[in-house]
Amino acid sequence: MMSIQPISGKTKVVGILGYPVEHSKSPLMQNAGFQALGLDYCYVPFSVAPEELGRAVGAIRALNLAGANVTIPHKEAVIPFLDEVTPEAAAMGAVNTIVNRDGRLVGYNTDGPGFLLSLTEVSGFDVKGLTIVLLGAGGAARGVGMELARAAAGRLMVINRNLERAQELAGDISLHTGCLAQALPWEEGVLKDAIGAAHVLINSTPIGMYPRHQVPPVVNPDYFPEGLTVCDLIYNPIKTSLLTAAEAKNLKTLSGYGMLLYQGVIAFELWTNHKAPVEAMKKALLEAL
Ligand code: NAP
Repeated sequence: MMSIQPISGKTKVVGILGYPVEHSKSPLMQNAGFQALGLDYCYVPFSVAPEELGRAVGAIRALNLAGANVTIPHKEAVIPFLDEVTPEAAAMGAVNTIVNRDGRLVGYNTDGPGFLLSLTEVSGFDVKGLTIVLLGAGGAARGVGMELARAAAGRLMVINRNLERAQELAGDISLHTGCLAQALPWEEGVLKDAIGAAHVLINSTPIGMYPRHQVPPVVNPDYFPEGLTVCDLIYNPIKTSLLTAAEAKNLKTLSGYGMLLYQGVIAFELWTNHKAPVEAMKKALLEAL
């Protein structure tokens, strides 16, 4: 059980703005990080209704918070209230981290970089030149796809139920990064051929997520080629039916908790300018999941 840091007059406060926010594991993870380094920071959840978002962002300035995370449903809507947004977050059209730099609120997106860090750390490979299949074209796919393209992935195939949404994402990726991104329809023949040619498969749909986790893998495991790395962005459960099927074929797998951990690690470093204690944060997160 984590003991509570004494709050002093000098304690710096970081928050998370979400609606709902009660489910968030970030307070446990970030406070464990501050504690491990003995930093005089604390992290608190703020339940912010959509119509209060502007006032909540204003309160970051008024109360001189060190920064905040931003989660569903505010990641896109928060942008107009900030003073500055990094080019990467602007290209993603979403912010998940705010840093208060002497009253100027700067928006970052650490979701995509968090995924990439977890992928390179766990699988130990460089995505440069690799062929990647991304299932889904929602908010998470956007962050992950943009980051993979920026890291010089060779070819990115975005397969989505709503083809128009996949085309929009593939178009934006090509526009902002120059990576060859292609939108494809969610059809069995297409899935089989695309996955058969891939080095990395990423599920960014909610298929397999708790409480509907006892479902067959999102795609047929017969399509998995040898050497494929299979990633799921879902972190509840930690091991989805997709990852279980991949493991049964002796393939490398990556759970979505890695992305959750490393988006937090990057945010921690932006707020504190200290190297994050990854092991302490990981332990707190895994205990909470
Ligand atoms: P989102 O914006 O709602 O997008 C959902 C995507 O899944 C869409 O492309 C949607 O397709 C597709 N989809 C949904 N149900 C489907 C079905 N039955 N069959 C085929 N496709 C389906 O959601 P999101 O924010 O991107 O989140 C997606 C997943 O990523 C969730 O499981 C979430 O928990 C996870 N996530 C993880 C992290 C992390 O840190 N690990 C961070 C963010 C999100 P259409 O466009 O056709 O509707």
